[in-house]
Amino acid sequence: MHSALLHDEPLLFEYDTHPQEPIQLPGVGGDTVPDHLTPFLRQNPANLPQLSEPETVRHFVRLSQWNHHIESGFYPLGSCTMKYNPRVNEQLARLPGFADIHPDQPEETVQGMLALLFELQQWLGAISGLPHVTLQPAAGAHGELTGMMMIHAYHAALGDHRRTKVLIPDSAHGTNPASAALCGFTPVEIPSAANGRIDLNTLRANLNDEVAALMLTNPNTTGMFESDIAEITALVHEAGALVYGDGANLNAMVGVARPGDMGIDCLHINVHKTFATPHGGGGPGAGPVAVGAALAPFLPAPHIRKEGARYQLYHSEQSIGPVLGSIGHSGVLLRAAAYIAAFGRDHLHKIAHDAVLGANYIRVRLQETYHLPFPGICKHECLLTDAIQNRHGIKTLDIAKALIDRGFHPMTIYFPLIVHGAMLIEPTETESKTTLDAFCDAMLAIAEQAEQGDGDAMQTAPHHAPTRRLDETLAARKPTLNWPPTS
Ligand SMILES: *Cc1c(COP(=O)(O)O)cnc(C)c1O
Repeated sequence: MHSALLHDEPLLFEYDTHPQEPIQLPGVGGDTVPDHLTPFLRQNPANLPQLSEPETVRHFVRLSQWNHHIESGFYPLGSCTMKYNPRVNEQLARLPGFADIHPDQPEETVQGMLALLFELQQWLGAISGLPHVTLQPAAGAHGELTGMMMIHAYHAALGDHRRTKVLIPDSAHGTNPASAALCGFTPVEIPSAANGRIDLNTLRANLNDEVAALMLTNPNTTGMFESDIAEITALVHEAGALVYGDGANLNAMVGVARPGDMGIDCLHINVHKTFATPHGGGGPGAGPVAVGAALAPFLPAPHIRKEGARYQLYHSEQSIGPVLGSIGHSGVLLRAAAYIAAFGRDHLHKIAHDAVLGANYIRVRLQETYHLPFPGICKHECLLTDAIQNRHGIKTLDIAKALIDRGFHPMTIYFPLIVHGAMLIEPTETESKTTLDAFCDAMLAIAEQAEQGDGDAMQTAPHHAPTRRLDETLAARKPTLNWPPTS
């Protein structure tokens, strides 16, 4: 048989009666095309990569096994809030009544979906203390842009066209100045005080009648609560400007405190952070925006409202218009609704309590060994630096890579930018004490290794990962996608 194959001869069965043509198998499934469909048959084979299904499946399964994800291990990426997405959320979002409808279906045929999304608008309004909510934005950054557009429309409606500046603390996430600039505002950076928070005098000095808004993250990206928040928002309002809240850190206060009560006018909510929708890989996400009465008329259109027993999509006159081609990424939003419902109104605060407890547990276990730039209780994330390990030539990047060898995803490194050698650790409420202890033990062992002068090995870590230390910029811009690797 083998030699026949090698010599490219027809492969025949060793029977006298073997058929010369494939035999007809009438009634056996497949391959029969009804006459009315034959005009639609493809004339030429599709131009697809020549790989079999098993080869393709193996490729992607192999990649998935190389990838660190929240289902494979702890993922304490500060600011990103990488929490576990419960499987029941997936089941709910896949129910055919939700998954099989079309975004352009007439309202009267999707009343159930509209009812659920309307309910979610109400829930997010109650949680944020800002009762008017749009579900349209596709991510946190998109929510920021939507908020900036509403703030722009608000000042324009008052005939106030001088307000071209948006104040942003230097600890902010890079998307904040980007969103303000994309909307045509000029971002103005406000330096943080030595305690990592906004200084009221610095704020006062920057407020004037050219300021449209302050963009503020609270707790801020150092994990610290802006304890002067009431004075901050009052000062901004006195100056005729509005306060935009970056809600990425809502996990620290969900069910405990409400941004609306603090004087925030507009807040985006990263449902993939606070409410456990899938996260990473670039989408799809959702970034609903909640606003108070002043900005409500400008919400994107269409907006879901309830008239009697019916749910409808309406367009308000002053709306900034649509910011997405549909009323929102409903599959993602449904998962968020499932997470909220699983806790329920009486237990939602447990999210914040457990997240803050976890971060402080890590802080207390590590603060003697690693430098803590802002002492005292942190909120849902704990900020350390490499200042102590620096004495042995070990820097934040080396510590992060050493964590990979120990089975953990590194924390966020070198962010916030205002803290040298920053390591921002966010455990979230979905991790057990056993996991937090294993992580702290690894961090302590890494510090010990640095102390012992094991610098050379540490500076070349990771040693046990599928890839060694990469040039990360080059790896992102010029990825090598061939398998097996060609060079
Ligand atoms: C994640 C994050 C954002 C951006 O949100 P995306 O949903 O990733 O677009 C903005 N600000 C802060 C502080 C964040 O952590």
